[in-house]
Amino acid sequence: MKKLLIAGALFSVTCILPAMAQQEPAAEDPLLKIYRETPAKINDLVHTKLDVRFDYKKRYLYGKEWVTLKPHFYATDTLRLDAKGMDINNISIVKNGKNTPLKFTYDSLTLAIKLDKVYRNWETYTIYIDYTAKPDELKVQGSAAINDARGLYFINPDGTEKDKPTQVWTQGETESSSAWFPTIDHTNQKTTQEISMTVPAKYVTLSNGRLASQKLNGNGTRTDVWKMDLPHSPYLFMMAVGDFKIYKDKWRGREVNYYLEPKFAPYAKDLFGFTPEAMEFFSKKLGVDYPWNKYSQIVVRDYVSGAMENTTATLHGENVQMTARELIDAYYDFGRSTVAHELFHQWFGDYVTAESWSNLTVNESFADFSETMWAEYKYGLDEGGAHIQGDLEGYLRDGHAKSLDLVRFHYADKEDMFDNVTYAKGGTILYYLRSYLGEEAFYKGLNIYLKTNAFKNGEAHQLRLALEEASGLDLNWFFNEWYFNAGHPILDISYKWDEGAKTQTVYVTQSQDGDAFILPIAVDIYAGGKKERHKVWLRNKADTLTFKVASKPNLVNVDGNKALPTKKTDKKTIEEFAFQYNNAPLYVDRLEAITAAGNQQTDKTARKILTDALKDKYYG
Ligand SMILES: [Zn+2]
Repeated sequence: MKKLLIAGALFSVTCILPAMAQQEPAAEDPLLKIYRETPAKINDLVHTKLDVRFDYKKRYLYGKEWVTLKPHFYATDTLRLDAKGMDINNISIVKNGKNTPLKFTYDSLTLAIKLDKVYRNWETYTIYIDYTAKPDELKVQGSAAINDARGLYFINPDGTEKDKPTQVWTQGETESSSAWFPTIDHTNQKTTQEISMTVPAKYVTLSNGRLASQKLNGNGTRTDVWKMDLPHSPYLFMMAVGDFKIYKDKWRGREVNYYLEPKFAPYAKDLFGFTPEAMEFFSKKLGVDYPWNKYSQIVVRDYVSGAMENTTATLHGENVQMTARELIDAYYDFGRSTVAHELFHQWFGDYVTAESWSNLTVNESFADFSETMWAEYKYGLDEGGAHIQGDLEGYLRDGHAKSLDLVRFHYADKEDMFDNVTYAKGGTILYYLRSYLGEEAFYKGLNIYLKTNAFKNGEAHQLRLALEEASGLDLNWFFNEWYFNAGHPILDISYKWDEGAKTQTVYVTQSQDGDAFILPIAVDIYAGGKKERHKVWLRNKADTLTFKVASKPNLVNVDGNKALPTKKTDKKTIEEFAFQYNNAPLYVDRLEAITAAGNQQTDKTARKILTDALKDKYYG
């Protein structure tokens, strides 16, 4: 019992990426009154070419940028770019290889550039910008999810901290890439990319896409050029520079590699070695092969969050990195679920990107859910059940979360979207939706969503339409309940057997505030040595279900898939719970029985459940 419960408790703590604060904002925060509209697309990014050098002493980046754009629809002669706390030395329009300076104003956050003429949306144009990024001088604030927003980080740049390597790395999400290059820093922009990085020759570099060239400069520096030929959003741009050893792996002939500090290099395979297997698993499940040319993972020092799914180049904090001794004890731990989570983002987040922070669910709820998918596949259904149960408990513990819609256009700060609703509750909603639609229809829907919106953006609506197309079922009611509304059903379940009429009655009441949830569920009736499944719908604040059964059931198991995101009081007898412990198939079936037994330890049957639980097959 202890193992089972402890494991459950551990997952509750570790399954959420990143760890989130649970604070109650002031009731009438005026910021919550602001409608957070999706950023208008006046100009579209097309291609971003950067040439950067680093000044470790000053913590500066000296940058040259050639950014190609076009008006989205309406003709325009102005361009606004996000550029945080930079020195702007020159802005020019590039024509026939010649730079002509443009007029601009700059308020330390946004560049307003007057173009040389009115451009139509079939005309692309290229702007050259000479700038200095000064991330350490930025006045910025992060959030519970990402506790800083400098965009570019110099770690031990003077080498004065003993036993700490010198590194440079970036963190774009949410809107911090514009702290190291001017861009339209919105998720609904996508651009191809080329970055030329000049660094001390002793260091290794990593960025998105492929390493196109390397050139020694003769002055102790080297210039690496990285090219990303497929478009992605600016917040997914990344760079890392430092002393890393590269472990080379492969998936279907594509480069998969792990960048670790030399002392951790011997454990690269232990930490990340299952990555190709996970790429294969997710590719097959989704019916969309891993969409990018390579997949790298790097572990850096002093990272400001858990991990980040930069396209083709995931960046991990040190918490993923353990020595072999520690790995022996690790099972499906934080690091391993993080590897799955960030990998899944390469589809849900990078290939199809949330259109705005309000719709973050189409990135993060999926990445959260993927941790359970991987647990089920790699470690078995119990591990998957334990993981999603951890999500549910994490959400239910968060008192504020129940008042928030999954998709919401009112928030005090965009960082607030990275919460228990978007991650944990969102994961449980997908788990429930999969249970309702069935595996095949659910994954076919995800396949349609990905293919329809590839290299573009998605909202909850696109997801609904894709799932409807796959299943042929209307899902407006489901999305209205779970995506565009707050809270969860609070169920009270009680039972009555009528021996004369051979009828089993189940009373289910919903006591949450507001309307009743419409809830399709399975009810499993165990009687006469066999199990019969009934698919039923709860639609009211009080529902009465009746079933004809030949003999008194040993167990009536409401929500036989244990998929419903709910808080419930289930008034089974301890004998029924004992039967459930021994006969119902799922981790949560046993967890419920153990929990019930733990509450009545003077009872003999309860004690038997608890004794049996000590030998439970999960972690047993
Ligand atoms: Zn994530």
